[in-house]
Amino acid sequence: MPELLEVESYRRQAEQVVGRIVAAVDAPDAWFVKGSEPEEVVAAVTGRTVVAARRTGKLLVLDLDEGDDPGGGPDGTAGLRLGLRFGMTGRLIVDGAASIDRLEYSSGRDDPAWDRFTLHFAGGTDLRLRDPRRLGGVSLDPDENRLGVDALVATRADVAAALGTSTAPLKARLMDQARLAGVGNLLADEILWRAGLDPARPAGGLTDEELTDLHRTLREVLDELMVRGGSHTGDVRQAAALDGLCPRDGAPLTRRQVGGRTTVSCPVHQR
Ligand SMILES: [Zn+2]
Repeated sequence: MPELLEVESYRRQAEQVVGRIVAAVDAPDAWFVKGSEPEEVVAAVTGRTVVAARRTGKLLVLDLDEGDDPGGGPDGTAGLRLGLRFGMTGRLIVDGAASIDRLEYSSGRDDPAWDRFTLHFAGGTDLRLRDPRRLGGVSLDPDENRLGVDALVATRADVAAALGTSTAPLKARLMDQARLAGVGNLLADEILWRAGLDPARPAGGLTDEELTDLHRTLREVLDELMVRGGSHTGDVRQAAALDGLCPRDGAPLTRRQVGGRTTVSCPVHQR
């Protein structure tokens, strides 16, 4: 469930640890460490200082300095990048506090046993990735080039390029992280509902006017739901859970699979 908005909230929280030195690392779950052995990550990260907390789409990246190894990291630069992914149920806990108490699809329970990866900082503070379902992960020097442009800064031209001339469903292209990074299932449903576009339409078939409207709606939804408190606060999903009627025209909302994902839409005004 963490989509762009949730991970942006985690990123802001992670800014608190910029300037801190990693004194120790807990990586108890080998499954959760992708592309390396846990011991390699522990050895590589320990002793370095966090210099930035960045985000592209749903990927949070902590930039680390050269630490006591000025000879150069794996990518040829002295620093190191640590990628954090949150899967369906991952949360970030900084100094014991979470910016998001619970996620839509996770239980209200909380358990320190779900801490899959922890950075302990000099002075006794820490940053934890807590993930009950273990669908997230941690990796050294993640391949950020595999992600498309971040949806929060995407221009109309970026959105047009992401949709291309594809006959794939519009919603599937919007959620294709390699083309447009950050939009997940909930945000996609809200954007398309507000823009009045059928999620199953061929992605490449939008008119210029529809494309302009889609881009404007994307920005509007990200801004508005960020203020409301997350991806689950959209109008159409809340209506689906409440009375199942479209807030715009009162038509019964439909629920179906589009691009392999459960999709809520209005059969009347989404065309
Ligand atoms: Zn409607």
